[in-house]
Amino acid sequence: MTKPKYDAIIIGGGISGLLAALVLRKEGKKVLVIEKSDYLGGNCRTYEINGYHMDTGPHAITGLLNGPLKILMDEYFSVVPKFTPIKSYYARWQKKLQEIPLTLLQLSYFDILSKKDRALLAGAMMDAVAKSSINKNALEKSVYDYIKKYNFSAKSIKFIDAISYFLSGKSMKETPSWRMLGGSGYVDEGKNDKSVESHIKKIIKFAKHDYNSQGYPLGGIQNITSSILNSIPKNKVSFKTNEKATRFIVKNNRIKGVKTDKGTYYGNTVVYSGFVKDLPDLTDKLSAEYKSELKKIKQTKSATLWLGLKKKIPELSYLGSEVYFDTNTPYWAIPVSNFDSNLAPKNRQLVGFTTVIKEDDFEKQLNKLKHSIFTALPNIKKNIEFEHTQVTIPEKAAITIGVKFPSPKSPIKGLYLVGTDTDVRSMGVTRASYSVLEALRFMKEDGVIR
Ligand SMILES: Cc1cc2nc3c(=O)[nH]c(=O)nc-3n(C[C@H](O)[C@H](O)[C@H](O)COP(=O)(O)OP(=O)(O)OC[C@H]3O[C@@H](n4cnc5c(N)ncnc54)[C@H](O)[C@@H]3O)c2cc1C
Repeated sequence: MTKPKYDAIIIGGGISGLLAALVLRKEGKKVLVIEKSDYLGGNCRTYEINGYHMDTGPHAITGLLNGPLKILMDEYFSVVPKFTPIKSYYARWQKKLQEIPLTLLQLSYFDILSKKDRALLAGAMMDAVAKSSINKNALEKSVYDYIKKYNFSAKSIKFIDAISYFLSGKSMKETPSWRMLGGSGYVDEGKNDKSVESHIKKIIKFAKHDYNSQGYPLGGIQNITSSILNSIPKNKVSFKTNEKATRFIVKNNRIKGVKTDKGTYYGNTVVYSGFVKDLPDLTDKLSAEYKSELKKIKQTKSATLWLGLKKKIPELSYLGSEVYFDTNTPYWAIPVSNFDSNLAPKNRQLVGFTTVIKEDDFEKQLNKLKHSIFTALPNIKKNIEFEHTQVTIPEKAAITIGVKFPSPKSPIKGLYLVGTDTDVRSMGVTRASYSVLEALRFMKEDGVIR
C-alpha cells in the first residue's frame, strides 16, 4: 500500500483544530486541516462592519495564569496574543451593579439578594459539598434539587437560574450542582479525588478564590486564532477551506483517511473537531451504546446583539462584564471597546449582549433581549448608531444531568476528538484547550507523538 500523504488530518479549523494542527506540526508531522467554511477560526473570529469590530459573541478567557491555553501558549506559540485583565463579573439589578460573589465572605456582602437568601444560599452550597463527601454522586443532583427546599424569593431564584444558564447553557433544573460550584470557582473542577482532605480543601476554597486570571485578547478574539496561525510553520501544513469532511475511511477499526465533498485524503491519525453528535454521519463503525450516549448531548443556541453607541455611557464604564437578571430574558454583556478602543470608531463604544435562545421565533427572542437591555440601561437607546446580531452555539455541548461527554480518544484507533464536547472542565476556549491537551496525552500514550 502507498504511504499516506499526511501524518495527521484535522477536521475543523476552529480553535481546537488549529491548536491540534499547531502541536502536531511542531512535533514534526505533516498536517492537513479541512474546514467546511470559507474562513478559519470557527467561533473564535472577529470581523468588521462600519468601523465596529465584532467577536463571534462576547468572550472572557479564563485560566490565563496557569490554565490549559497558557500551557499550550508557553510550549508551542511563537506569537502570543496580548490579554488585558477582565477585572470583575457584575450582577445588575435595577440601578445597582455589584460584583458577583466568588467567596462566602463576598456572598455575605452581596446585598442585591436579601440577608436571609444570602445565608440560605451559603447553607445550600455547604450542604452540597458536605453531601458529596458521603455520596460520590451528590453533586450530580441539579442546582434546583439543592435549593428547592428553601423558601428563596423570586429574585434569588432568577439570579440562580441566570447564573446556571451562564455556566452550563441550561436552567438550574438541568444544571448539575458541581457545575455551579466548580464553574464559579467555589470548588476545583474536574478532579475526581474523593479523599477527606480533598473535601476539606473544597470547603477552604469557599473562603478564598483564585479566579482572577481572566482576560480579553487585544484586537479581539481573532487575535488568538491569528496567533495560532502565525505560530504554525508554513511548510508541511496545508489548509483546505470550503471543504466538508463527509466520511471516515476505517479498516479493521483503524482510521485510514477522510473523504470530503471534494476529495479523499489518507492519513493514520485524524483529529475531529466538529460536533461529536455528528460522528454517526461520518462512520457506521460506532457501537449502538456509544451512539446512544452521543444522542443524549444537548446544545444551547445563543443570540448576541452588538450595539455601537455614539458615545461612551457611564453605566458601561467598567472593565469587566455584567449579568442582568431582573427579567425572564437575562443577558451577559461585555463593553469590549473599554478593553481595546480600536474595536470601535473614535469616541464610540461597542458592547455585546448575549442571551440563551429559548424561542423558535428568533425575532421574538431578539425583542425580548432588547426589552431587557432597555429596561436595564434606559440611557442606551438614544445612543445606538449601529446594531448587529449573531446566532451561535457557544459550546458544542451543554453540561446537563446524566450526560457523559466522550473521551478525546475515540473507539476507532487513530481517531481523536477535540472541542468543547469532549471535556467538561471550564468553558469555551479553556475547555477546548483542555480537550486538546487530553487528546495529546492519548496520542503520546499511543506513540503518535513523542
Ligand atoms: C456567544 C458566545 C460567547 C462565548 N463566550 C466565551 C467566553 O466568554 N469564553 C470562552 O472561553 N469561550 C467563549 N465562547 C466559546 C468559544 O468561542 C468556543 O468554545 C470555541 O471557539 C470553540 O472552538 P472549537 O474549535 O472547539 O469549535 P468551533 O469554533 O465550532 O470550530 C469547529 C470548526 O469545525 C468546522 N467543521 C465542523 N464539522 C466539519 C466537517 N465535517 N468538515 C469540515 N469542517 C467542519 C466548523 O465549521 C468550525 O469551523 C463563546 C462562544 C459564543 C458563540
